[in-house]
Amino acid sequence: VTAPTSPHILKVALDTPLRRTFDYLPPPGVAGRGVQPGMRVAVPLGRRRAIGFVVGVADTTEVPPARLKAAIELLDPEPLWDAQCFDLLLWAADYYQHPLGEVLAASIPAALRRGAPAVHALAAWQLSATGLEQLTGTGLRLGPRQRELVERLRNGPVVAAEVSAAQLGPALRSLARRGWVEPLELPAPAPAAGSATTRAPPLTAAQRLACDAIAGSLGGFTPWLLHGVTGSGKTEVYLDVIERVLAAGQGALVLVPEIALTPQLVGRFRGRLPVPVVTLHSSMTDAERLEAWQAARSGAAPVVIGTRSAVFTPLPAPGVILVDEEHDASYKQQDGFRYSARDLAVARAARHRIPVVLGSATPSLESLANATETRYRKLLLPERAGSAGKPRVGVVDLRLHAARDGLAQPVIAAIERHLADRGQVLVYLNRRGYAPTLFCSGCGWIAPCPACDARMTVHMARARLVCHHCGADAPLPFGCPKCGSEVSAVGQGTERVEQALAELFPQAPLVRVDRDVIRRRGDIERALEEVASGRARILLGTQMLTKGHDYPDVTLVAVLNADQGLFGADFRASERLAQQIVQVAGRAGRGHRPGEVLIQSAYPENPLLVSLVTEGYEGFALRALAERRDAAWPPYSRLALLRADSPERGEVYAFLRAAAAAAPDLGGVRLLGPAPASMERRAGRYRAQLLLEASTRPPLKRWLEAWLPQVEQLKHPRQLRWSVDVDPIEVD
Ligand SMILES: [Zn+2]
Ligand SMILES: [Zn+2]
Repeated sequence: VTAPTSPHILKVALDTPLRRTFDYLPPPGVAGRGVQPGMRVAVPLGRRRAIGFVVGVADTTEVPPARLKAAIELLDPEPLWDAQCFDLLLWAADYYQHPLGEVLAASIPAALRRGAPAVHALAAWQLSATGLEQLTGTGLRLGPRQRELVERLRNGPVVAAEVSAAQLGPALRSLARRGWVEPLELPAPAPAAGSATTRAPPLTAAQRLACDAIAGSLGGFTPWLLHGVTGSGKTEVYLDVIERVLAAGQGALVLVPEIALTPQLVGRFRGRLPVPVVTLHSSMTDAERLEAWQAARSGAAPVVIGTRSAVFTPLPAPGVILVDEEHDASYKQQDGFRYSARDLAVARAARHRIPVVLGSATPSLESLANATETRYRKLLLPERAGSAGKPRVGVVDLRLHAARDGLAQPVIAAIERHLADRGQVLVYLNRRGYAPTLFCSGCGWIAPCPACDARMTVHMARARLVCHHCGADAPLPFGCPKCGSEVSAVGQGTERVEQALAELFPQAPLVRVDRDVIRRRGDIERALEEVASGRARILLGTQMLTKGHDYPDVTLVAVLNADQGLFGADFRASERLAQQIVQVAGRAGRGHRPGEVLIQSAYPENPLLVSLVTEGYEGFALRALAERRDAAWPPYSRLALLRADSPERGEVYAFLRAAAAAAPDLGGVRLLGPAPASMERRAGRYRAQLLLEASTRPPLKRWLEAWLPQVEQLKHPRQLRWSVDVDPIEVD
């Protein structure tokens, strides 16, 4: 009989979909009081060894003593996260109603989930006492390889990687067998510091005001909305604030939507800052991510630039958090643990009591509403650095001007004019492939995706039909499979427009940027270099073009299809469209030349489009926010979705009806549905949802907490999947 005098039951969160913790005794030889929340433990789980996270140490357990197992091993001498970040993770699991173990696992690099050390150390070898003694003697018979290794070891420890690189492995093993060498761990060298070779340009008056305002808020929690028009120099503000934070001995966390597409940004940070800058993003290898995370956590790299999940990077002394292009949809994780990195950045800054800066040329309507309601403080960068003035914006009415291969005559004429003037031209079309539809004029057949409620896109160069929703592909048919008549490609994608532009302007070299041509690391750099050097005169592409690149010589931007976003099923469709147009239009006339923007539309009287063209993004945003308020959409309401999908349509609705029937008897929440997703069948699965709407957050949270345990108890076929999305950014 033991009478424990200190807490000795470890509450462990495991990377499983179960919304509960598991109780274990501490590992052999470890006292409960030596274990802290945030440390990893290896534990027995059924027959396997699993890695879990200690989230608490308690006095008692419900598990009968006979079934209570001990953890196998404590993996960390201290918690993985700083206290504020760990608290953020606990809060996020609760806020997004997601199992804690999955939340904690999702927040760290994959290598750490498999048990890699949290501290970066190098395995090395040194001479043991015996080895030193033996090797001072004479007459030793050593082979040449052994002699070489011993010479190196006499100068101090040798890193294991160098031993194998010099092919001295066998020599080392023979010394080890004799007990002449012993392993040790050396601290890893810090990542290389930035070059700090570029000097800060003189700040504009607006930049100076913004920098001073943010600097004045250091040391306390202030959320800032930095609304800077494209080209107004937001990055200079970020760099200035980071320099001040570094001078105070602190670090900075910078979130960006996509790093692979913005090599320029990281280069600018490294060129300016005298400290190590590490990046964290999905196109790094597991080993690279682990090393960057370790350098950030230890403080060896005080500046961290990363995508979404970098918001969870532990930092010893953060001084500021910056979120660039805060409106970008990629900050929202769309599967598994569905969180908003933008919103969590604000929650994290509050815990550290530091400022957070949300920067954008096209702030989200949520952030603008927060600024209007004074939850956020707003800073404006109205001018363009370099002062080319605002571009002229015009709408080309597609009802008056027939388009040839997607290009209306006034647009063709403008391209000709700008090319003749030695300007570069950017043509924007957010649709890749050759044509979105393959159509039979004989019987009206339209090539459908066999697995989705969607049409197949024609890819002419590859002679394939491809579904952009599930990836299904098929050979391009010569005739209609139903009636044998001739088929034609209807509508335009970038591939077709590229062909049309090449025919119209054979003298103007063109670079296309979309996911069909930019596939590997380095592709985007090569494409941008063609543009920057002036070799390419026409730049054609999709949304990829709007992600933060600078094209100083572009004088004309043509937006070929603005109408795609005007009538989207999602309540955010028009906001997205306005952001894309403003972001891409912002590429025109930077540097010293004024620019021109032409938007093709068949609905030029659409009020949102009119306000965007005549009053700019802020005019649009005011009108769009008024519409949201009238319709009680976010930010004037709070939403959550319960989504379900299955290959069997009936199962989806049966499950959602049962979930709706299990709704708690609590006020303040409206439950709508089940309703089909706007594309009901996708990749062979039927998709539908329940929408929950509340005017404020607390009743919605109480409601979900009462409801989800009931939903979890519902029996359903294995092939049915369901998930909860709190603050969804797509509700179609
Ligand atoms: Zn036909
Ligand atoms: Zn499909």
